[in-house]
Amino acid sequence: MAKCSLCGRPAIYISRISGVALCEKHFLEYFDRKVRRTIRKYKLFKPKDHIAVAVSGGKDSLSLLHYLHKLSRRVPGWKITALLVDEGIRGYREYTVKRLEKVASELGVDYVVVRFKDELGFTLDKIVKIALERGLPYKPCTFCGVFRRYLLNKKAREIGAAVIATGHNLDDIIQTYMMNIIDNDWTKIARLGPVSGPAHHPRFVRKVKPFYEVLEKETTIYAILNGFYEGFEECPYARFGVRWTVRKMLNQLEEQYPGVKYSILQSLLTAIDMLNKLGIGEGEVETCAICGEPSAHPVCRACMLKIELGILELSPEKLAQLPPSARKMIESSLKLYERRNAQNKQTNKTSRGVDEAASF
Ligand code: SF4
Repeated sequence: MAKCSLCGRPAIYISRISGVALCEKHFLEYFDRKVRRTIRKYKLFKPKDHIAVAVSGGKDSLSLLHYLHKLSRRVPGWKITALLVDEGIRGYREYTVKRLEKVASELGVDYVVVRFKDELGFTLDKIVKIALERGLPYKPCTFCGVFRRYLLNKKAREIGAAVIATGHNLDDIIQTYMMNIIDNDWTKIARLGPVSGPAHHPRFVRKVKPFYEVLEKETTIYAILNGFYEGFEECPYARFGVRWTVRKMLNQLEEQYPGVKYSILQSLLTAIDMLNKLGIGEGEVETCAICGEPSAHPVCRACMLKIELGILELSPEKLAQLPPSARKMIESSLKLYERRNAQNKQTNKTSRGVDEAASF
């Protein structure tokens, strides 16, 4: 068995890049140093912050809740509240909600659960069904991500939080970087720093990522050592997203060339720096003409998705009251929906014709 490079006790972690082996005690010290360095370097928190920790009930977010709770004992004035968005994913989310309740009560941390069903009227499972019926071209993760971000910001503001801390680790961040390269979306890449989002809006709550420089395998070890890792659980929709493939590809690369993940993170930081100098990603933050939340467009993405799903209907009078830019956005989206619908009907008709011909 490998021995700790610092004290000779049995090692539980070996860095494949430096070859350094660490025992439990020295791993936890290394983990703590790494996260505190990120917090200091990017000035993630202020002394009297009310921090809403976005928790999914998975290992990364529970590790973050545990870590910040511990750190808060050294920072008088910090207040920690766990914020969990329950999307309504059957056979998955109910377990992670239970896990949050257990960990939060053990730690003595307040928690708030926000449910898609209560806030939007539908669970994610139902939304995915509606989207299929309406022939919308979006993957479940699109609805989940947009509505989750929307509700996190709204709820964090309502409970008076100054900042939202998320459990994204280095692996998550470079996966998102790769996915945005595939989409050629440099505005989103410019916003992938440890402090994200357009900050200049009175309703926008700043988001920070304290695990920005921590590998997923390190957050997993932290969760195991602190007793809240209960095996690897994957959301049933995960395999439908591009992230699934990108993640596999990056893990294979890291296996073959240790250190690749850190190099990609450095590449991302350089890209963000260059994009900031070009003013990309710093566009004006608008206010959604429908719900009043911060938005990159005259109508926010959450309201647009609700309209496309048919779960937000606007009367002709309400539509007429909206500013012209918002009206135009909605009208062109509805036209696109009608065109898509007509095409789908045509395709169904043709394939039915083919089926009938084939059965002859
Ligand atoms: Fe939501 Fe997709 Fe993550 Fe599942 S995998 S929780 S649907 S973003």
